[in-house]
Parts: sequence; structure tokens; C-alpha cells
Amino acid sequence: MSKNILVTGGAGYIGSHACKALAKGGFTPIAYDSLVYGHREAVRWGPLVEADLADRARLADTLRKYEIAAVMHFAAFAYVGESMTRPELYFNNNVVNTVGLLDAMLAAKVRHIVFSSTCATYGTPDSVPITEDTPQRPVNPYGETKLMIERALYWYGQAHGISYAALRYFNAAGADPDSEIGEEHDPETHLIPLILDAAQGKRAEIGIFGTDYPTPDGSAIRDYIHVQDLAEAHVAAISHLASGGASLALNLGTGVGHSVREVIDAAERITGRHIPRRETDRRPGDPAALVADASRARQAIGWTAKVSDLDSIIGTAWRWHQRAKTGQAEA
Ligand code: UDP
Repeated sequence: MSKNILVTGGAGYIGSHACKALAKGGFTPIAYDSLVYGHREAVRWGPLVEADLADRARLADTLRKYEIAAVMHFAAFAYVGESMTRPELYFNNNVVNTVGLLDAMLAAKVRHIVFSSTCATYGTPDSVPITEDTPQRPVNPYGETKLMIERALYWYGQAHGISYAALRYFNAAGADPDSEIGEEHDPETHLIPLILDAAQGKRAEIGIFGTDYPTPDGSAIRDYIHVQDLAEAHVAAISHLASGGASLALNLGTGVGHSVREVIDAAERITGRHIPRRETDRRPGDPAALVADASRARQAIGWTAKVSDLDSIIGTAWRWHQRAKTGQAEA
């Protein structure tokens, strides 16, 4: 079997880390990215096909030309707030274009896909930790589009024998320990890069969105998972599917939650900088706590998080952040 893996969104944050992990695992990643949000310099471990997911002819051509064995599908819009005001962007880009990708796979007889899903498909759970059997009730169009794709995968699997792994990430964070790649969103909305901007004085302060949650310190709790651990889970999932394993849906998290205040405190300790903070109202739609039960991933594909302690996450992110901000990242 060919070792070529199509990685849609391969120039993005999680996609580029997956490309690095694929190369390390003996695969060749073919990054397929429009570069609307992705970064050309993040494509280092295989060719880049610069094209839009909506371009079905180019997709079909790429699957054939590179004799693709399996697909990792990261390309998507992922701003929850924007999805609330412009849902059409999300239903078109995330849902319609993924159906196009599945059709192209059928035509080219590509049978395996690892899909970038999210804990946002669970919405506001009644309790934590969240297992894969927790009801999926998204509370925003972003989560809704990811759930719709999970359902499409199920029915394409039933009808056409496509096997899939839907990987439901909790809070992706951290950067490549070699600082070759890292997180670089524009606009940035995620907690850890914003905290590091504040540590560098690029932002005046970090807002703590809500201090009246029913949590020990009143701030919201999330399960932060290192992007390198995520990347390795994708390689394990591809290997599982390629060797005939059954389709599955898996949570990717650590099982341990950290509050916003804990993350800021850890960042102050690791950076050695004072990080000004301001307590503000809750951000609409944010649940109090999202923590994974990640035991199924261990049983099904032998994966557990290895470098997702807060110190490793913030330490690698801080190293990358300092390089990226001084323009050395592209050297
Ligand atoms: N958060 C915060 N201040 C910020 C950005 C985020 O307090 O400037 C909180 C947010 O309310 C959530 C957690 O940090 O509880 C993680 O938010 P992020 O946007 O990184 O990820 P999400 O959990 O929304 O996917």
C-alpha cells in the first residue's frame, strides 16, 4: 500500500504537527491547503498542494496523482463566535466541502479517513468527565457542522465501506518541542497564546472570562491537550484503519482539567513574567467545565497523552511564541 496520506489543512496548526508525526512514522504527508489560514512555511515534511477544498477537480486529481492511501481531514473554519454570526460559512466550508471530499475519495477508491472533530459536538454536558457516549448536543454552528460530518461519515461507512476515525479534541495547545512549527492564528482567540502575548507585553492584560462558575476558583475548567499528543493520535488512528480496524469515535484529552486562573499562574511561573489579569463577565456559550474521559482511545488505538502536562504545553508554546514573534520561525 502507498504510504502517501492526504492532509487537508496540512499548513494549519494541528495539521502541520500531524504532517511532522506522519513523516516520523514512515508516511509521506501531502498537505492540501488553501493558505487562507494556513502558513506556507509550516509545510516541511512533504509537498504542498495549494488549493481550496471546494475545488473538486483539484481534489480528484491530487488523490490520483499521489496514489493517496488515506486522508486526514483538518481543513475547516473553527471560530465559534464567527460561526454564530456567519453560519453559512461553516455549513458550506465544513459540511458541503467535506461531502465533496468523501465523494472524491469514493471515486478514487480511497477507503480511510481520520477526521478532526471536537468536544464542541457535546455542547454543554450534564456532567464531566465526558465519554464518547455522552449525548452530542452542539450549542453553536461550529460544533453542529462537525457533528453533521460525523453523521455523514457513519452513513458513507455503512453504504460504501469507508472506515473512519472521528477524533474529538478537547483544548489543543502547545507547540512542536523543536519549535519548527506552532500556533499562529489570526485573529487569535485561544487562551494560552493570548496569555503569552500578555506576558510579552503585546497585550495589556488577559481577561478572565467569568469568575462565578461553580468550580473551585470560580473560573472555567478545560482539558488542555498538547498538539504533539494529538498528532500522534492521528498516526495511531491511520495505522488502525489501514490494518483493517473498525471505524470509531474517540475523545482526545487527558482526563485532567485546569482552570483559567491555574493556566495563568502556571504561565507566570514558566515565563518568569508578570501577567496582568482582569476579571470580566463570562463569554456567552462557555460551559463551566469540559474534561474528557479518554480511556476509549487507550483501549482502541493504544493512545494516551504523554506531554500534555501544563508545564510542557506552556513551555513549548512559550519557546515558539518567542521565536515566532522575533521572526526566526521561518529561518
Ligand atoms: N478564556 C479566557 N480569556 C480569554 C480567552 C479564553 O478566560 O481571553 C477562557 C474561555 O472562557 C475558556 C478557556 O479560557 O474557559 C479556554 O478558551 P479557548 O478560547 O482557548 O478555548 P475553547 O474552550 O473556547 O475552545
